[in-house]
Amino acid sequence: MNLFGRIKSELNKITMLRSLRFRLGLILMLVGLFCCLIMRFGIMQSYFNRALEVRTLDVQNQIKILADHLITYDYLQDQRSEVVNAELNMLSNLYDGRVLIINNSFNVIKDTYNVSQGKTIISEEVIRCFKGESITNYDDNNNYIEMTVPITMTVDEEQRVVGVILTSVSADSIVNNQEILDRQAVLIAIVILIIVFGIAVAVPREIMKPFDKVTSAINEVKAGFTSDKIVAEDYTELEHIADAFNQLMARMKVLDDSRQEFVSNVSHELKTPLTSVKVLADSLNTQEDVPVELYKEFMSDIVNEIDRENKIINDLLSLVKLDKTASELNIESVDINKLMESIFKRLMPLAKEQGIDLIFESQRQVVAEVDEVKLSLAITNLIENGIKYNREEGWVKVTLDADHQFFTFEVADSGLGIDEESQKHIFERFYRVDKSHSREIGGTGLGLAITRSTILMHRGSIKVSSVPEEGTVFTVKVPLSYIQ
Ligand code: ADP
Repeated sequence: MNLFGRIKSELNKITMLRSLRFRLGLILMLVGLFCCLIMRFGIMQSYFNRALEVRTLDVQNQIKILADHLITYDYLQDQRSEVVNAELNMLSNLYDGRVLIINNSFNVIKDTYNVSQGKTIISEEVIRCFKGESITNYDDNNNYIEMTVPITMTVDEEQRVVGVILTSVSADSIVNNQEILDRQAVLIAIVILIIVFGIAVAVPREIMKPFDKVTSAINEVKAGFTSDKIVAEDYTELEHIADAFNQLMARMKVLDDSRQEFVSNVSHELKTPLTSVKVLADSLNTQEDVPVELYKEFMSDIVNEIDRENKIINDLLSLVKLDKTASELNIESVDINKLMESIFKRLMPLAKEQGIDLIFESQRQVVAEVDEVKLSLAITNLIENGIKYNREEGWVKVTLDADHQFFTFEVADSGLGIDEESQKHIFERFYRVDKSHSREIGGTGLGLAITRSTILMHRGSIKVSSVPEEGTVFTVKVPLSYIQ
Protein backbone atom coordinates (compact mmCIF):
# COMPACT_ATOMS: atom_id res chain seq x y z
CA MET A 1 0.00 0.00 0.00
CA ASN A 2 1.38 3.43 -0.87
CA LEU A 3 1.60 6.29 1.64
CA PHE A 4 -1.69 7.81 0.50
CA GLY A 5 -3.46 4.46 0.87
CA ARG A 6 -1.97 3.96 4.35
CA ILE A 7 -3.06 7.44 5.50
CA LYS A 8 -6.55 6.76 4.10
CA SER A 9 -6.83 3.43 5.94
CA GLU A 10 -5.57 5.00 9.19
CA LEU A 11 -8.10 7.83 8.82
CA ASN A 12 -10.84 5.29 8.13
CA LYS A 13 -10.14 3.72 11.51
CA ILE A 14 -11.30 6.92 13.20
CA THR A 15 -15.03 6.29 13.40
CA MET A 16 -16.00 9.94 13.37
CA LEU A 17 -14.24 10.56 10.03
CA ARG A 18 -16.25 7.74 8.48
CA SER A 19 -19.55 9.21 9.57
CA LEU A 20 -21.68 10.55 6.73
CA ARG A 21 -22.95 13.30 9.01
CA PHE A 22 -19.40 14.50 9.70
CA ARG A 23 -18.50 14.34 6.03
CA LEU A 24 -21.57 16.33 4.97
CA GLY A 25 -20.81 18.94 7.64
CA LEU A 26 -17.20 19.13 6.49
CA ILE A 27 -18.23 19.58 2.85
CA LEU A 28 -20.61 22.42 3.80
CA MET A 29 -17.88 24.09 5.88
CA LEU A 30 -15.36 23.82 3.04
CA VAL A 31 -17.86 25.23 0.52
CA GLY A 32 -18.58 28.15 2.90
CA LEU A 33 -14.89 28.78 3.46
CA PHE A 34 -14.22 28.64 -0.27
CA CYS A 35 -16.97 31.21 -0.96
CA CYS A 36 -15.57 33.51 1.73
CA LEU A 37 -12.06 33.28 0.27
CA ILE A 38 -13.38 34.05 -3.22
CA MET A 39 -15.24 37.05 -1.84
CA ARG A 40 -12.28 38.23 0.22
CA PHE A 41 -9.61 38.02 -2.46
CA GLY A 42 -11.43 37.85 -5.79
CA ILE A 43 -13.90 40.67 -5.27
CA MET A 44 -11.41 42.90 -3.43
CA GLN A 45 -8.81 42.50 -6.16
CA SER A 46 -11.27 43.26 -8.92
CA TYR A 47 -12.50 46.34 -7.02
CA PHE A 48 -8.90 47.59 -6.79
CA ASN A 49 -8.20 47.00 -10.48
CA ARG A 50 -11.40 48.72 -11.51
CA ALA A 51 -10.77 51.76 -9.27
CA LEU A 52 -7.24 52.06 -10.66
CA GLU A 53 -8.58 51.89 -14.20
CA VAL A 54 -11.15 54.62 -13.55
CA ARG A 55 -8.57 56.86 -11.91
CA THR A 56 -6.13 56.34 -14.83
CA LEU A 57 -8.82 57.19 -17.40
CA ASP A 58 -9.76 60.31 -15.46
CA VAL A 59 -6.20 61.57 -15.26
CA GLN A 60 -5.55 60.65 -18.90
CA ASN A 61 -8.50 62.77 -20.01
CA GLN A 62 -7.34 65.71 -17.90
CA ILE A 63 -3.83 65.45 -19.30
CA LYS A 64 -5.10 65.34 -22.86
CA ILE A 65 -7.01 68.55 -22.25
CA LEU A 66 -3.88 70.05 -20.63
CA ALA A 67 -1.78 69.00 -23.65
CA ASP A 68 -4.18 70.89 -25.95
CA HIS A 69 -3.97 73.96 -23.74
CA LEU A 70 -0.16 73.77 -23.71
CA ILE A 71 -0.20 74.08 -27.49
CA THR A 72 -2.97 76.71 -27.49
CA TYR A 73 -1.12 78.91 -25.00
CA ASP A 74 2.32 78.10 -26.52
CA TYR A 75 3.41 77.03 -23.05
CA LEU A 76 6.45 75.14 -24.32
CA GLN A 77 7.99 78.49 -25.32
CA ASP A 78 6.59 80.66 -22.56
CA GLN A 79 5.58 79.27 -19.17
CA ARG A 80 3.88 82.36 -17.85
CA SER A 81 0.35 81.46 -18.97
CA GLU A 82 -1.82 81.77 -15.89
CA VAL A 83 -4.54 79.58 -17.27
CA VAL A 84 -2.14 76.67 -17.80
CA ASN A 85 -0.36 77.19 -14.48
CA ALA A 86 -3.68 77.27 -12.65
CA GLU A 87 -4.72 74.11 -14.47
CA LEU A 88 -1.42 72.44 -13.53
CA ASN A 89 -1.87 73.36 -9.87
CA MET A 90 -5.42 72.14 -9.91
CA LEU A 91 -4.32 68.83 -11.44
CA SER A 92 -1.54 68.21 -8.93
CA ASN A 93 -3.76 69.16 -6.01
CA LEU A 94 -6.76 67.19 -7.16
CA TYR A 95 -4.87 63.95 -7.70
CA ASP A 96 -2.16 64.54 -5.14
CA GLY A 97 0.37 64.24 -7.91
CA ARG A 98 3.30 65.74 -9.75
CA VAL A 99 3.35 66.99 -13.34
CA LEU A 100 6.50 67.51 -15.39
CA ILE A 101 6.48 69.07 -18.83
CA ILE A 102 9.43 68.22 -21.06
CA ASN A 103 10.19 70.01 -24.30
CA ASN A 104 11.69 68.44 -27.42
CA SER A 105 15.22 69.10 -26.09
CA PHE A 106 14.43 66.72 -23.17
CA ASN A 107 14.50 69.72 -20.79
CA VAL A 108 12.06 69.92 -17.93
CA ILE A 109 10.35 73.27 -18.48
CA LYS A 110 7.83 72.81 -15.68
CA ASP A 111 7.77 70.69 -12.51
CA THR A 112 4.82 71.24 -10.14
CA TYR A 113 7.16 70.24 -7.29
CA ASN A 114 9.70 72.80 -8.51
CA VAL A 115 12.52 70.28 -8.06
CA SER A 116 13.57 69.16 -11.50
CA GLN A 117 12.91 72.36 -13.46
CA GLY A 118 15.75 73.01 -15.96
CA LYS A 119 17.04 69.43 -15.70
CA THR A 120 17.29 67.04 -18.61
CA ILE A 121 15.39 63.75 -18.57
CA ILE A 122 16.26 61.11 -21.13
CA SER A 123 14.49 58.05 -19.81
CA GLU A 124 13.23 55.13 -21.90
CA GLU A 125 9.58 56.18 -21.37
CA VAL A 126 10.30 59.74 -22.49
CA ILE A 127 12.07 58.52 -25.64
CA ARG A 128 9.20 56.13 -26.45
CA CYS A 129 6.75 58.92 -25.78
CA PHE A 130 8.52 61.20 -28.26
CA LYS A 131 7.84 58.46 -30.79
CA GLY A 132 4.11 58.96 -30.14
CA GLU A 133 3.43 56.28 -27.50
CA SER A 134 1.39 56.92 -24.32
CA ILE A 135 2.69 54.89 -21.38
CA THR A 136 0.93 54.08 -18.10
CA ASN A 137 2.52 52.18 -15.18
CA TYR A 138 1.40 51.39 -11.68
CA ASP A 139 4.13 51.45 -9.02
CA ASP A 140 2.70 49.19 -6.35
CA ASN A 141 5.54 49.83 -3.90
CA ASN A 142 4.73 53.54 -3.62
CA ASN A 143 1.10 53.39 -4.77
CA TYR A 144 1.62 55.73 -7.74
CA ILE A 145 0.15 55.70 -11.21
CA GLU A 146 2.78 57.00 -13.63
CA MET A 147 1.74 58.30 -17.03
CA THR A 148 3.78 59.65 -19.91
CA VAL A 149 1.66 61.39 -22.58
CA PRO A 150 2.98 63.08 -25.75
CA ILE A 151 2.16 66.73 -26.56
CA THR A 152 1.38 66.86 -30.26
CA MET A 153 0.74 69.64 -32.72
CA THR A 154 -0.06 69.73 -36.41
CA VAL A 155 2.78 70.99 -38.54
CA ASP A 156 2.29 70.93 -42.33
CA GLU A 157 -0.80 68.73 -41.83
CA GLU A 158 1.34 66.28 -39.93
CA GLN A 159 1.10 65.39 -36.24
CA ARG A 160 4.43 66.03 -34.48
CA VAL A 161 5.42 65.32 -30.88
CA VAL A 162 6.77 68.55 -29.51
CA GLY A 163 6.92 67.66 -25.85
CA VAL A 164 5.99 65.14 -23.17
CA ILE A 165 3.87 65.40 -20.03
CA LEU A 166 5.15 63.14 -17.27
CA THR A 167 2.65 62.64 -14.46
CA SER A 168 2.66 60.60 -11.27
CA VAL A 169 -0.63 60.42 -9.43
CA SER A 170 -1.09 59.00 -5.96
CA ALA A 171 -3.34 55.89 -5.61
CA ASP A 172 -3.39 56.19 -1.80
CA SER A 173 -7.11 57.00 -1.66
CA ILE A 174 -7.84 53.80 -3.65
CA VAL A 175 -5.64 51.73 -1.33
CA ASN A 176 -7.31 53.31 1.70
CA ASN A 177 -10.76 52.56 0.35
CA GLN A 178 -9.67 49.03 -0.36
CA GLU A 179 -8.42 48.58 3.18
CA ILE A 180 -11.74 49.80 4.61
CA LEU A 181 -13.68 47.48 2.31
CA ASP A 182 -11.29 44.66 3.19
CA ARG A 183 -12.00 45.04 6.90
CA GLN A 184 -15.73 44.96 6.17
CA ALA A 185 -15.24 41.88 3.97
CA VAL A 186 -13.39 40.09 6.80
CA LEU A 187 -16.27 40.90 9.17
CA ILE A 188 -18.85 39.65 6.67
CA ALA A 189 -16.76 36.52 6.06
CA ILE A 190 -16.65 35.80 9.80
CA VAL A 191 -20.44 36.22 10.06
CA ILE A 192 -20.94 33.97 7.00
CA LEU A 193 -18.57 31.36 8.45
CA ILE A 194 -20.47 31.33 11.76
CA ILE A 195 -23.77 30.88 9.88
CA VAL A 196 -22.24 28.16 7.67
CA PHE A 197 -20.87 26.40 10.75
CA GLY A 198 -24.38 26.39 12.25
CA ILE A 199 -25.80 25.03 8.99
CA ALA A 200 -23.00 22.44 8.78
CA VAL A 201 -23.96 21.15 12.21
CA ALA A 202 -27.75 21.36 11.89
CA VAL A 203 -28.41 20.34 8.28
CA PRO A 204 -26.51 17.00 8.29
CA ARG A 205 -28.22 16.15 11.58
CA GLU A 206 -31.62 16.75 9.94
CA ILE A 207 -30.61 14.92 6.77
CA MET A 208 -29.43 11.91 8.77
CA LYS A 209 -32.52 11.67 10.98
CA PRO A 210 -34.41 9.34 8.58
CA PHE A 211 -31.34 7.04 8.54
CA ASP A 212 -31.45 6.86 12.35
CA LYS A 213 -35.17 6.07 12.10
CA VAL A 214 -34.49 3.20 9.68
CA THR A 215 -31.68 1.86 11.89
CA SER A 216 -33.93 1.81 14.94
CA ALA A 217 -36.74 0.23 12.87
CA ILE A 218 -34.32 -2.53 11.79
CA ASN A 219 -33.20 -2.96 15.41
CA GLU A 220 -36.80 -3.31 16.49
CA VAL A 221 -37.40 -5.93 13.81
CA LYS A 222 -34.21 -7.67 14.97
CA ALA A 223 -35.41 -7.64 18.57
CA GLY A 224 -38.80 -8.94 17.43
CA PHE A 225 -40.80 -6.02 18.87
CA THR A 226 -42.67 -5.13 15.68
CA SER A 227 -43.74 -6.81 12.48
CA ASP A 228 -40.93 -7.98 10.20
CA LYS A 229 -41.39 -5.04 7.80
CA ILE A 230 -39.93 -1.55 7.91
CA VAL A 231 -41.30 1.59 6.29
CA ALA A 232 -39.05 4.42 5.04
CA GLU A 233 -40.68 7.19 3.06
CA ASP A 234 -38.32 10.15 3.53
CA TYR A 235 -35.86 9.48 0.71
CA THR A 236 -36.02 7.34 -2.42
CA GLU A 237 -32.65 5.82 -1.49
CA LEU A 238 -33.98 4.82 1.92
CA GLU A 239 -37.09 3.37 0.29
CA HIS A 240 -34.78 1.15 -1.80
CA ILE A 241 -32.89 0.03 1.33
CA ALA A 242 -36.19 -0.67 3.12
CA ASP A 243 -37.49 -2.61 0.09
CA ALA A 244 -34.31 -4.70 -0.05
CA PHE A 245 -34.51 -5.31 3.70
CA ASN A 246 -38.17 -6.32 3.50
CA GLN A 247 -37.42 -8.67 0.61
CA LEU A 248 -34.57 -10.18 2.60
CA MET A 249 -36.87 -10.64 5.58
CA ALA A 250 -39.53 -12.23 3.35
CA ARG A 251 -36.93 -14.61 1.94
CA MET A 252 -35.68 -15.47 5.41
CA LYS A 253 -39.24 -16.13 6.48
CA VAL A 254 -39.72 -18.51 3.54
CA LEU A 255 -36.45 -20.24 4.47
CA ASP A 256 -37.49 -20.40 8.10
CA ASP A 257 -40.92 -21.76 7.18
CA SER A 258 -39.40 -24.37 4.93
CA ARG A 259 -36.88 -25.30 7.66
CA GLN A 260 -39.71 -25.69 10.16
CA GLU A 261 -41.76 -27.67 7.66
CA PHE A 262 -38.71 -29.86 6.98
CA VAL A 263 -38.16 -30.49 10.70
CA SER A 264 -41.81 -31.37 11.26
CA ASN A 265 -41.77 -33.61 8.15
CA VAL A 266 -38.63 -35.35 9.39
CA SER A 267 -40.10 -35.93 12.84
CA HIS A 268 -43.31 -37.23 11.33
CA GLU A 269 -41.52 -39.55 8.92
CA LEU A 270 -39.21 -40.86 11.63
CA LYS A 271 -42.08 -41.35 14.06
CA THR A 272 -44.28 -43.39 11.67
CA PRO A 273 -42.10 -46.56 11.61
CA LEU A 274 -41.45 -46.22 15.35
CA THR A 275 -45.20 -46.04 16.05
CA SER A 276 -45.72 -49.19 13.95
CA VAL A 277 -42.88 -50.95 15.83
CA LYS A 278 -44.43 -49.93 19.16
CA VAL A 279 -47.92 -51.10 18.15
CA LEU A 280 -46.55 -54.44 16.91
CA ALA A 281 -44.36 -54.98 20.01
CA ASP A 282 -47.19 -53.89 22.37
CA SER A 283 -49.65 -56.30 20.83
CA LEU A 284 -47.10 -59.13 21.17
CA ASN A 285 -46.50 -58.12 24.79
CA THR A 286 -50.10 -57.89 25.80
CA GLN A 287 -51.17 -61.17 24.24
CA GLU A 288 -50.72 -64.38 26.19
CA ASP A 289 -49.47 -67.50 24.41
CA VAL A 290 -48.85 -65.87 21.07
CA PRO A 291 -48.64 -68.49 18.33
CA VAL A 292 -45.16 -68.79 16.88
CA GLU A 293 -46.41 -67.94 13.35
CA LEU A 294 -47.98 -64.69 14.51
CA TYR A 295 -44.89 -63.93 16.55
CA LYS A 296 -42.70 -64.47 13.51
CA GLU A 297 -44.98 -62.40 11.27
CA PHE A 298 -44.98 -59.50 13.73
CA MET A 299 -41.24 -59.72 14.18
CA SER A 300 -40.69 -59.61 10.44
CA ASP A 301 -42.99 -56.55 10.27
CA ILE A 302 -40.93 -54.95 13.03
CA VAL A 303 -37.72 -55.67 11.07
CA ASN A 304 -39.31 -54.10 7.95
CA GLU A 305 -40.21 -50.98 9.88
CA ILE A 306 -36.68 -50.76 11.32
CA ASP A 307 -35.27 -51.13 7.77
CA ARG A 308 -37.56 -48.33 6.65
CA GLU A 309 -36.44 -46.10 9.50
CA ASN A 310 -32.86 -46.88 8.55
CA LYS A 311 -33.50 -45.99 4.94
CA ILE A 312 -35.10 -42.65 5.87
CA ILE A 313 -32.14 -41.81 8.13
CA ASN A 314 -29.64 -42.78 5.40
CA ASP A 315 -31.47 -40.71 2.78
CA LEU A 316 -31.66 -37.78 5.18
CA LEU A 317 -27.97 -38.06 5.92
CA SER A 318 -27.03 -38.05 2.23
CA LEU A 319 -29.28 -35.04 1.66
CA VAL A 320 -27.75 -33.10 4.56
CA LYS A 321 -24.29 -34.08 3.37
CA LEU A 322 -25.10 -32.85 -0.16
CA ASP A 323 -26.28 -29.52 1.28
CA LYS A 324 -23.25 -29.12 3.50
CA THR A 325 -20.49 -30.26 1.19
CA ALA A 326 -21.61 -28.55 -1.99
CA SER A 327 -17.99 -27.73 -2.77
CA GLU A 328 -16.69 -31.18 -1.94
CA LEU A 329 -17.42 -32.97 -5.18
CA ASN A 330 -14.92 -35.64 -6.03
CA ILE A 331 -14.61 -34.67 -9.68
CA GLU A 332 -12.88 -37.03 -12.11
CA SER A 333 -13.13 -38.03 -15.73
CA VAL A 334 -15.83 -40.70 -15.95
CA ASP A 335 -16.97 -42.88 -18.84
CA ILE A 336 -20.73 -42.22 -18.60
CA ASN A 337 -21.61 -45.17 -20.88
CA LYS A 338 -19.76 -47.54 -18.56
CA LEU A 339 -21.38 -45.93 -15.52
CA MET A 340 -24.87 -46.45 -17.06
CA GLU A 341 -24.06 -50.07 -17.84
CA SER A 342 -22.96 -50.80 -14.27
CA ILE A 343 -26.14 -49.14 -12.90
CA PHE A 344 -28.25 -51.24 -15.29
CA LYS A 345 -26.47 -54.40 -14.11
CA ARG A 346 -27.29 -53.57 -10.50
CA LEU A 347 -30.94 -52.71 -11.20
CA MET A 348 -31.66 -55.60 -13.58
CA PRO A 349 -32.75 -58.05 -10.80
CA LEU A 350 -35.22 -55.45 -9.39
CA ALA A 351 -36.61 -54.76 -12.88
CA LYS A 352 -36.95 -58.51 -13.55
CA GLU A 353 -38.73 -58.99 -10.23
CA GLN A 354 -41.29 -56.33 -11.26
CA GLY A 355 -41.49 -57.63 -14.83
CA ILE A 356 -40.12 -54.39 -16.25
CA ASP A 357 -38.09 -54.16 -19.42
CA LEU A 358 -34.89 -52.08 -18.98
CA ILE A 359 -33.55 -50.50 -22.19
CA PHE A 360 -30.37 -48.44 -22.64
CA GLU A 361 -29.69 -46.51 -25.83
CA SER A 362 -26.54 -44.48 -26.30
CA GLN A 363 -26.06 -42.08 -29.25
CA ARG A 364 -22.32 -41.79 -28.59
CA GLN A 365 -19.51 -42.48 -26.16
CA VAL A 366 -19.56 -39.86 -23.42
CA VAL A 367 -16.73 -39.00 -21.05
CA ALA A 368 -17.44 -36.23 -18.54
CA GLU A 369 -15.97 -34.62 -15.42
CA VAL A 370 -18.34 -35.70 -12.64
CA ASP A 371 -18.47 -37.13 -9.12
CA GLU A 372 -19.02 -40.76 -10.05
CA VAL A 373 -20.53 -41.92 -6.73
CA LYS A 374 -22.99 -39.04 -6.37
CA LEU A 375 -24.05 -39.01 -10.04
CA SER A 376 -24.49 -42.78 -9.96
CA LEU A 377 -26.84 -42.41 -6.96
CA ALA A 378 -28.85 -39.73 -8.79
CA ILE A 379 -29.24 -41.85 -11.96
CA THR A 380 -30.09 -44.93 -9.87
CA ASN A 381 -32.88 -42.96 -8.09
CA LEU A 382 -34.43 -41.96 -11.42
CA ILE A 383 -34.31 -45.48 -12.92
CA GLU A 384 -35.50 -47.04 -9.65
CA ASN A 385 -38.50 -44.67 -9.65
CA GLY A 386 -39.19 -45.64 -13.26
CA ILE A 387 -39.30 -49.30 -12.16
CA LYS A 388 -41.22 -48.64 -8.91
CA TYR A 389 -43.94 -46.42 -10.34
CA ASN A 390 -44.62 -48.55 -13.42
CA ARG A 391 -47.38 -50.85 -14.58
CA GLU A 392 -47.05 -54.57 -15.04
CA GLU A 393 -44.87 -55.56 -18.00
CA GLY A 394 -43.92 -51.93 -18.54
CA TRP A 395 -40.56 -50.55 -19.65
CA VAL A 396 -37.93 -48.05 -18.59
CA LYS A 397 -35.77 -46.57 -21.34
CA VAL A 398 -32.60 -44.55 -20.78
CA THR A 399 -31.08 -42.63 -23.70
CA LEU A 400 -27.71 -40.93 -23.56
CA ASP A 401 -26.49 -38.19 -25.92
CA ALA A 402 -24.03 -35.29 -25.88
CA ASP A 403 -23.03 -32.16 -27.78
CA HIS A 404 -19.73 -30.28 -27.43
CA GLN A 405 -20.76 -28.75 -24.09
CA PHE A 406 -23.28 -30.97 -22.31
CA PHE A 407 -24.30 -34.59 -22.03
CA THR A 408 -28.00 -35.33 -21.74
CA PHE A 409 -29.78 -38.41 -20.55
CA GLU A 410 -33.46 -39.16 -20.46
CA VAL A 411 -35.14 -41.68 -18.18
CA ALA A 412 -38.55 -42.49 -19.70
CA ASP A 413 -41.04 -45.00 -18.38
CA SER A 414 -44.43 -46.44 -19.29
CA GLY A 415 -45.72 -46.02 -15.73
CA LEU A 416 -48.32 -44.23 -13.68
CA GLY A 417 -47.34 -40.74 -14.71
CA ILE A 418 -47.54 -37.64 -12.52
CA ASP A 419 -50.36 -35.06 -12.70
CA GLU A 420 -49.44 -31.46 -13.52
CA GLU A 421 -49.90 -30.05 -9.97
CA SER A 422 -47.70 -32.78 -8.42
CA GLN A 423 -44.98 -32.21 -11.06
CA LYS A 424 -44.30 -28.84 -9.36
CA HIS A 425 -43.61 -30.52 -6.03
CA ILE A 426 -41.95 -33.87 -6.69
CA PHE A 427 -38.44 -32.45 -6.10
CA GLU A 428 -39.40 -31.23 -2.61
CA ARG A 429 -38.26 -33.23 0.39
CA PHE A 430 -40.79 -35.85 1.53
CA TYR A 431 -43.23 -35.02 -1.25
CA ARG A 432 -45.01 -38.10 -2.55
CA VAL A 433 -47.87 -38.13 -5.05
CA ASP A 434 -49.51 -41.12 -3.43
CA LYS A 435 -48.16 -41.40 0.11
CA SER A 436 -49.51 -44.84 0.89
CA HIS A 437 -48.43 -46.34 -2.44
CA SER A 438 -44.96 -44.83 -2.10
CA ARG A 439 -44.59 -46.16 1.45
CA GLU A 440 -45.82 -49.58 0.34
CA ILE A 441 -43.03 -49.78 -2.19
CA GLY A 442 -40.44 -48.50 0.27
CA GLY A 443 -40.25 -44.82 -0.82
CA THR A 444 -39.13 -42.06 1.52
CA GLY A 445 -39.98 -39.03 -0.63
CA LEU A 446 -36.32 -37.96 -0.54
CA GLY A 447 -34.97 -39.65 -3.70
CA LEU A 448 -35.79 -36.86 -6.19
CA ALA A 449 -34.64 -34.17 -3.74
CA ILE A 450 -31.26 -35.94 -3.54
CA THR A 451 -31.13 -36.34 -7.33
CA ARG A 452 -31.92 -32.66 -7.96
CA SER A 453 -29.31 -31.47 -5.42
CA THR A 454 -26.65 -33.65 -7.06
CA ILE A 455 -27.46 -32.43 -10.58
CA LEU A 456 -27.44 -28.77 -9.45
CA MET A 457 -24.07 -29.30 -7.77
CA HIS A 458 -22.77 -30.44 -11.16
CA ARG A 459 -24.17 -27.13 -12.58
CA GLY A 460 -26.71 -29.18 -14.55
CA SER A 461 -30.50 -29.09 -14.85
CA ILE A 462 -33.33 -31.59 -14.42
CA LYS A 463 -36.80 -31.40 -15.94
CA VAL A 464 -39.84 -33.62 -15.79
CA SER A 465 -42.65 -34.13 -18.27
CA SER A 466 -45.39 -36.62 -17.67
CA VAL A 467 -48.82 -37.78 -18.78
CA PRO A 468 -50.85 -39.57 -16.08
CA GLU A 469 -51.46 -43.25 -16.91
CA GLU A 470 -49.04 -43.03 -19.84
CA GLY A 471 -45.61 -42.42 -18.40
CA THR A 472 -42.96 -39.99 -17.26
CA VAL A 473 -39.76 -38.60 -18.78
CA PHE A 474 -36.98 -37.08 -16.66
CA THR A 475 -34.46 -35.10 -18.75
CA VAL A 476 -31.09 -34.32 -17.21
CA LYS A 477 -28.45 -32.01 -18.75
CA VAL A 478 -24.92 -31.84 -17.24
CA PRO A 479 -21.82 -29.93 -18.49
CA LEU A 480 -19.09 -32.20 -19.87
CA SER A 481 -16.44 -30.16 -18.05
CA TYR A 482 -17.05 -29.30 -14.43
CA ILE A 483 -17.59 -25.55 -13.89
CA GLN A 484 -16.19 -24.38 -10.54
P1 ADP B 1 -39.95 -41.84 -3.16
O1 ADP B 1 -38.96 -42.31 -2.19
O2 ADP B 1 -41.32 -41.71 -2.59
O3 ADP B 1 -39.90 -42.56 -4.45
P2 ADP B 1 -38.97 -39.61 -4.69
O4 ADP B 1 -38.45 -38.30 -4.21
O5 ADP B 1 -38.02 -40.47 -5.45
O6 ADP B 1 -39.52 -40.34 -3.41
O7 ADP B 1 -40.21 -39.32 -5.54
C1 ADP B 1 -41.19 -38.43 -5.07
C2 ADP B 1 -42.56 -38.82 -5.61
O8 ADP B 1 -42.64 -38.57 -7.01
C3 ADP B 1 -42.85 -40.29 -5.50
O9 ADP B 1 -43.42 -40.59 -4.26
C4 ADP B 1 -43.78 -40.54 -6.63
O10 ADP B 1 -45.11 -40.28 -6.22
C5 ADP B 1 -43.41 -39.55 -7.67
N1 ADP B 1 -42.56 -40.14 -8.74
C6 ADP B 1 -41.22 -40.12 -8.81
N2 ADP B 1 -40.78 -40.71 -9.94
C7 ADP B 1 -41.90 -41.12 -10.60
C8 ADP B 1 -42.11 -41.84 -11.84
N3 ADP B 1 -41.10 -42.20 -12.62
N4 ADP B 1 -43.41 -42.09 -12.19
C9 ADP B 1 -44.43 -41.69 -11.42
N5 ADP B 1 -44.28 -41.04 -10.25
C10 ADP B 1 -43.04 -40.76 -9.83
